[in-house]
Amino acid sequence: MKILTVVGNRPQFIKAAAVSGPLRERHEEVLVHTGQHHDDSLSRVFFTELGLARPDRELGIAGGSNTSQTARMLAALEPLIDELRPDAALVYGDTNSTLAGALGAAQTHTPVVHVEAGMRSFDRTMPEELNRVLSDHLAELLLCPSEVAAKNLKAESVAGRVEVVGDVMVDVAMRWAPAAREDVAAPAAYDVAPGAYLLLTAHRAGNVDDPARLGMLVKLVRALPVPIIFPLHPRTRARLQDGGLLGQLEALDGLQLTEPLGYVEFSSLLHHARAVVTDSGGVQKEAYLAGVPCVTLRPSTEWVETVDAGWNTLVDLDPPLALAALDRSHPGERPPLYGDGHAAERCVEAIDAMEMRA
Ligand code: UDP
Repeated sequence: MKILTVVGNRPQFIKAAAVSGPLRERHEEVLVHTGQHHDDSLSRVFFTELGLARPDRELGIAGGSNTSQTARMLAALEPLIDELRPDAALVYGDTNSTLAGALGAAQTHTPVVHVEAGMRSFDRTMPEELNRVLSDHLAELLLCPSEVAAKNLKAESVAGRVEVVGDVMVDVAMRWAPAAREDVAAPAAYDVAPGAYLLLTAHRAGNVDDPARLGMLVKLVRALPVPIIFPLHPRTRARLQDGGLLGQLEALDGLQLTEPLGYVEFSSLLHHARAVVTDSGGVQKEAYLAGVPCVTLRPSTEWVETVDAGWNTLVDLDPPLALAALDRSHPGERPPLYGDGHAAERCVEAIDAMEMRA
């Protein structure tokens, strides 16, 4: 089959890096990069490090509101889909690129495959939640990371076929874990000792776009124990600069602000951290897989299993709750969640089966 894959942001490059290889063994893939994340630190580094093929088409669409960005992507995808006439479209996760790819394809009766289907935070103020729900209802094949995700889809009576394949991000995390565990040079490069520092990420719209919430985030960061390594997402850097708050963080002793890191370095730092403090989705599960406690700067999460397992604590932007979560002890066990590292192969098998049914 000819498969049109639409990607656009950092976690999607990582997910596509898992699936693209096995997919191309049996199908023709045309990779479209919407441009949602375009700078080198959020985009190019993942293609080179993780061996993802260069995009066949680049739409160059970034910035603007969620609505206008999605609309511009849709307008750019329509002629492309007409020209390429793919047999299926493949989309990942929950971004504007996901929704535009899914809707653009569905409008031309191109079957949509959604990888990471069924995840729900049940928080409709999150743009990601809207993108997930809508993409799931457009998809013909819904590939879920977990049983909980499949249950969510059943509760919503989606029209497409639902399969639990595991999480393709776990495939990548498991592949890199041995090297990350051995790489003690990564913390040394920041002059921190393994097991003695926090790794921090924050970029969710709900935490950085609203000035009041951004102020709370800065307050929370200042309350955390140092040393801290904080790779700053460009969106967060821009909001901190606009709000005149960047200086407060730059002045904090023991806090190292860096550019966004490549996957390999980030993964090494994550494996050796005392704990991870984050509002990222992907980082929550990567922390779990690495056996590193996670403190999540959100009131809810789609990755509920990590919370239920006792390794992830939701603290929103509450400093006392965050400090208490850091002091919490963790269960000796970590049941395997989200698959065995072979989710990408199962995705391709499900796509093969879709072809047979067509
Ligand atoms: N990540 C990275 N460098 C960084 C921060 C994160 O490579 O400086 C990786 C991280 O390992 C994970 C992914 O980016 O695989 C998560 O992406 P992000 O937090 O942007 O998105 P989300 O998962 O919240 O959708």
